[in-house]
Amino acid sequence: MQQHVIEIPFHETPCRIIIGRESLPSIGQHVLETHHSTQQSTSAAPPHAFIVSETIVYDLYGAQLCESLTRHKVKHTCCVLDRHDYGGSSESLKSYDALRAICEHALSSHITRDSILITLGGGVIGDVGGVAANLLLRGLPLIHVPTTLLAQVDSAIGGKTAINSRHGKNLIGTFYQPRRVVCDSATLTTLPQRHITAGYGEILKYACIKDEPFFQWLDQHATSLLQGEGRDILYAISHCAAMKADIVMHDEKEQGQRALLNLGHSFCHALEAANAFDESLLHGEGVLIGLLLAARLSVTLKHAPPSLEQRLYAHLERHQLLPEQLWTPATSLTTDTLLTCMQRDKKNRGNTMTLILMRAIGKAFIAPQCPIDPIRQTLDHYLTQQRTTPQ
Ligand code: NAD
Ligand code: MG
Repeated sequence: MQQHVIEIPFHETPCRIIIGRESLPSIGQHVLETHHSTQQSTSAAPPHAFIVSETIVYDLYGAQLCESLTRHKVKHTCCVLDRHDYGGSSESLKSYDALRAICEHALSSHITRDSILITLGGGVIGDVGGVAANLLLRGLPLIHVPTTLLAQVDSAIGGKTAINSRHGKNLIGTFYQPRRVVCDSATLTTLPQRHITAGYGEILKYACIKDEPFFQWLDQHATSLLQGEGRDILYAISHCAAMKADIVMHDEKEQGQRALLNLGHSFCHALEAANAFDESLLHGEGVLIGLLLAARLSVTLKHAPPSLEQRLYAHLERHQLLPEQLWTPATSLTTDTLLTCMQRDKKNRGNTMTLILMRAIGKAFIAPQCPIDPIRQTLDHYLTQQRTTPQ
């Protein structure tokens, strides 16, 4: 079985990313190796894993994971969350209530500091499980088994963990690095098409940030990639994971270049917030729209030639990923609402905003003090376009 391995040599918690088809059945081996490298007590405690998952993913892949653990003689306990107990949406699992349920379940299972917490699921389970791993007994070794394309190329790597507050998304969280990230591309065969498209949004983002040749490759391979399986998707996951690893390795706590990973995200967050984080617009779909808006603004501000926007537009058009093919904004949505959401997003204050823009495909940069008027124009243009384009 061919596997791609990427090491992130963080000083405190080095992380190994394993990417392959059918890598899930080897999870027992990864737990044993992690157990040996992190064991705290001098008495040789037997390996124990505490699994955090949710019903949809666990029903599909829980048995495979548990079977591998049993084969490697790893005792394990499963905490499987049902979204219907927390509000009904996947995102509702990133809540205090779900976090509490995980922690109480772990403690009543008599975990020790040698227990390894495994998350099995998409970015939601990775984020809430990551917070729990950080908090329980002041930190359990963590292994992510991401099962969505978005989680495999993005959220499982880099150590951001979070739950949501009524004040906003991802506001309660920590940086906590996993020891291993085990990506099995075979799990993507069951992923709904919209979530493949959403993952593609983050993949395209990496190309736009710093890899023009990868953009060209995507232009040729996006059709097969968007079908969700095969060699192309494996290549794309490995390539993006390596890019994210490289960026976070040099800037673990987002004090500089890691911010580039937010390309397209300020626009995306505004659209998501204005849509009350409803699942009619998935994060990765918002990223695809946000990338196009960031390209347009870059051209308006003369950071880039018009060919930047044209190239990106042509790519999205060829693969049926244009904004109007992804999401229809409510007729009541106004530019002012979007602008207010953007200004509220993180650190933006006053009459300018710090955004990530592009000089060309593959040349993203941090643009401090972007003036508000051109941003308003970009949003205006977007909303007008959506209202005049037949769906
Ligand atoms: P998700 O976790 O909600 O999963 C999407 C849907 O797919 C869910 O309904 C889930 O049940 C289902 N699913 C998951 N794997 C499946 C599979 N293999 N087969 C069938 N169905 C499957 O969504 P996501 O897009 O993976 O993650 C989104 C979350 O990630 C957001 O909360 C976002 O804030 C977070 N995020 C975190 C980071 C980070 O750095 N920590 C980065 C990006 C996004
Ligand atoms: Mg994102």
